Amino acid sequence: MNETHNPKLKSWVDVDRESDFPIQNIPFGVFCPKSGGDLHVATAVGDYVLDLALLDDAGLFKGTEVEGTEVFHEPTLNAFMSLGRKAWKDTRLVISRLLSEENGALRDNDDLKNEVLISMNEVEMQLPIDVGDYTDFYSSREHASNVGTIFRGPENALMPNWLHLPVGYHGRASSIVVNGTDISRPKGQSKAPNMDVPSFGGSKRMDFELEMGVFIGNGTNLGENVSVDDAEEHIFGLALVNDWSARDIQAWEYQPLGPFLAKNFATTVSPWIITLEALEPFRCSGPKQDPKPLEYLRNNNDSTFDINLGIYLKTGRMDSYDCISTSNYSYLYWDMCQQLAHHTITGCNLRTGDLLASGTISGPEKENRGSMLELTWGWSEPIKLSNGDERLALEDGDSVMLKGWCQSENYRIGFGDCIGKLLPSN
Ligand code: CA
Repeated sequence: MNETHNPKLKSWVDVDRESDFPIQNIPFGVFCPKSGGDLHVATAVGDYVLDLALLDDAGLFKGTEVEGTEVFHEPTLNAFMSLGRKAWKDTRLVISRLLSEENGALRDNDDLKNEVLISMNEVEMQLPIDVGDYTDFYSSREHASNVGTIFRGPENALMPNWLHLPVGYHGRASSIVVNGTDISRPKGQSKAPNMDVPSFGGSKRMDFELEMGVFIGNGTNLGENVSVDDAEEHIFGLALVNDWSARDIQAWEYQPLGPFLAKNFATTVSPWIITLEALEPFRCSGPKQDPKPLEYLRNNNDSTFDINLGIYLKTGRMDSYDCISTSNYSYLYWDMCQQLAHHTITGCNLRTGDLLASGTISGPEKENRGSMLELTWGWSEPIKLSNGDERLALEDGDSVMLKGWCQSENYRIGFGDCIGKLLPSN
């Protein structure tokens, strides 16, 4: 077992048993002190952020690949991510040892500790990555089947290509926002079924999509194909993704080239990137693939993780969130390595910071549906909330929160919050 995964490891920082950020997690993010100052790269432990830039200045990363590179002084994780797996692993090990209860190097240095360990209440987390390109897949069989059944009936639920390749489209990177960013209801064209001509206005069918995103660490060269077996070498880590969707705009615009404005106005991501190394103890197999994929997509490894997922909704009249759906990352039919291999099979290059989102992650049961389109079964069965409110689509003032966590007996590896509140159109 890797030292950083030891379930018995404890930190001298007080960490609640239910915390997303025990010493075994060591996520990476970027923060700004609320009192002002530069953006720095940090990790999270319990209710604190740990400033890695100041730790490096104090010489605590001596002898590792990050020493002297100033990557933790950057306003995004990209420079750190481009250093590669050895640098990520070394950094993780240094942090794990520094936070361990037996280690006094930081614990007993009050001056440094007060400088580098900051309460989460005193910082604002930033969008951690400069995302160059954003691709959104459609890799949940249950989601594709639900949507297909709603629009085309159960006989034609899956399109003929679906079981043979991970379907996807190229999305919009400029409107990716971090947890807590308000979302304005998009305006656009739609055409009601009983009308002959389209009309213009704010979307009347606002939806969310529960997804996970993979962030690329080491890029690839133009013309290079990455095999399924090598794909993980290029993956820095994962975060939660909410692919906000305007379904009425989508329905009118999507043929023949797919989603366009219905999805380009906002995509929310959680602020902490959880590394593959942190997820390693939760590795598991995905669904059996039948028919067998073509050779370049065949994967004999376990390339997914047991990550519990939840969708929570709070209307403007509620004080707390209701859980409206639960799912799991491992339900995905096409895994992240197959997605990456497929993406590069043409020679398309990936760059550090690129985001490959999974597509909506639905599961086998009704309560595992990852979008409102599915939860309301095509806008026909309202979601009933604990205070009596009902929803067929999101209304102004509604907040959507996604959560993700791996649970072991001793600790949980959490992803932090992925929240967005819908506001009226500008
Ligand atoms: Ca999507």
